[in-house]
Amino acid sequence: MTVTYEVGDGLYVNVTNRCTNSCDFCVRSVADGTYGELWLEREPSKEEILSALTEALTKKNYKEIVFCGYGEPTIRLDDILFACKKLKENPQNPKIRINTNGHANLIFGKDVTPLLAGLIDCVSVSLNAPDAEEYCRVCHPQFGKEAFTGLLDFAAKAKEYVPSVMLSVVSDSIPDSDIEKCKRLANEYGITLKIREYIKNN
Ligand code: SF4
Repeated sequence: MTVTYEVGDGLYVNVTNRCTNSCDFCVRSVADGTYGELWLEREPSKEEILSALTEALTKKNYKEIVFCGYGEPTIRLDDILFACKKLKENPQNPKIRINTNGHANLIFGKDVTPLLAGLIDCVSVSLNAPDAEEYCRVCHPQFGKEAFTGLLDFAAKAKEYVPSVMLSVVSDSIPDSDIEKCKRLANEYGITLKIREYIKNN
């Protein structure tokens, strides 16, 4: 079971295959074997997540820890925060980021962003589209159109508790004109927009 893996100088953490989206470009649907080994036969327990992280951190210095894909990490928010709380006991440990689709408040039916305070240093929310219609067309969210306003609301609320919050789009999967619209939208919310290349994980 692959719980942690490296991307550059980051230690990435894989806690679930599950997701509330079904994006056209998702590695879960286009996996060619490069990341195929990340598919979890079963989800690691919170203790296994912590153990895998602790073991990896004793072997190498990483710039950051990133809870990312295969699936949507905040589906297991309680277990992630359990591990983060333990990791934050050692100030030498790297900063912690969550790459998310931003659906957490919809998943839990309440504002969970206060739970991130002091445990998560960065939240990167996948925007993927300039409006709800396009988001639904590309990401097929189980929450429907509400998912788009929900992720923007999540990002805005997270800013109160997390030092760094950004929205992101994948440059290869969105036309330039839509990227400009996303920039304007991010500006309206006072959130940085990160334009990234497709790296086959969330
Ligand atoms: S790209 Fe991310 S948000 Fe989209 S289906 Fe895959 S894991 Fe979910």
